[in-house]
Amino acid sequence: MQRIAVFTSGGDAPGMNACIRAVVRTGIAMGKEVYGIRRGYAGMIEEDLFRMEKSSVSNIIQLGGTILQSARSEEFKTPEGRKKAYEVLQKHGIEGVVAIGGDGTFRGARIFMDEYPDIALIGVPGTIDNDLYGTDFTIGYDTAINTAMNAIDNIKDTANAHNRLFFIEVMGRDAGFIALRSAIATGAEAVLIPEDKTEMEELINMLEDNFHKKKRASIVVVAEGDDAGGAFQIAAQVKEKCPQFDIRCTVLGHIQRGGRPTCMERVLASRLGMEAVKALLVGTKSVMVGEIHRQIVFTPFEQATKYHQRINPDLIEMVELLA
Ligand code: ADP
Repeated sequence: MQRIAVFTSGGDAPGMNACIRAVVRTGIAMGKEVYGIRRGYAGMIEEDLFRMEKSSVSNIIQLGGTILQSARSEEFKTPEGRKKAYEVLQKHGIEGVVAIGGDGTFRGARIFMDEYPDIALIGVPGTIDNDLYGTDFTIGYDTAINTAMNAIDNIKDTANAHNRLFFIEVMGRDAGFIALRSAIATGAEAVLIPEDKTEMEELINMLEDNFHKKKRASIVVVAEGDDAGGAFQIAAQVKEKCPQFDIRCTVLGHIQRGGRPTCMERVLASRLGMEAVKALLVGTKSVMVGEIHRQIVFTPFEQATKYHQRINPDLIEMVELLA
């Protein structure tokens, strides 16, 4: 294998640039030519790729987003689209590809490799949600929880100044990892996540109890995909039962996706990028590279796309106990 490529796909995440840098520099250090494919599978189909040198990734380790950009491609979900992508890789002599993305990206990679087994793909987990099976942490998660934590700290200041109850919605359509960690780190009164059924009555009892004990400023962190709804919907239900509460809602939104990656993020992204290339060059393929208990672990795409990382119930209990 003389020529490899790298791309970022699906939801973008801080730390992707550090990973791209590691892939490019490891590949070149091992005597290979490295290509960057822009906009994920869409760019692969449209032949939007370029040769990368060591200098192509200078000064990007500290940047959020992705210099290769990301995209979602409906065309890649069709056999015709994948055929075009294959022809582009063949034309450029690319035999190995590092795909930085989430489970959708790996699902696509697996199907592609079933159809074109002469291309070796290896995945690196990049998503702020941390819901991927086969790694303790995904690229983007640490930065996202730190961003959420800092924003919630700011809101706590004003909540305390006015005795207000705040519902703060964080990202996580299907997973509560961002909500749970940011709730613990900010000493929130409650956390509502999709993995744990929300009992409205329990929540209201707890908030009323706090109110009577004169603890009137409270923070409730809500994952956007909670079963009881988003922050605004839940706040409306609480207000109806407890009109005495002075309630505000904040949706943190896309600020959680951007920003300078944390130190932990840059180190994880660099390590996974380097290990992905090393593995690719010794013939490993169709796996996602992750880090579990600080060790590098390869999980077949089949499993990485079938299972999800599970929430640790001890951490949910911790929020309740320490509030
Ligand atoms: P993520 O990788 O963050 O989970 P998506 O789920 O949007 O993001 O997946 C990224 C891209 O992967 C999609 O736009 C599509 O091109 C490709 N993909 C996802 N699922 C499939 C599939 N079943 N077959 C082929 N390609 C897929």
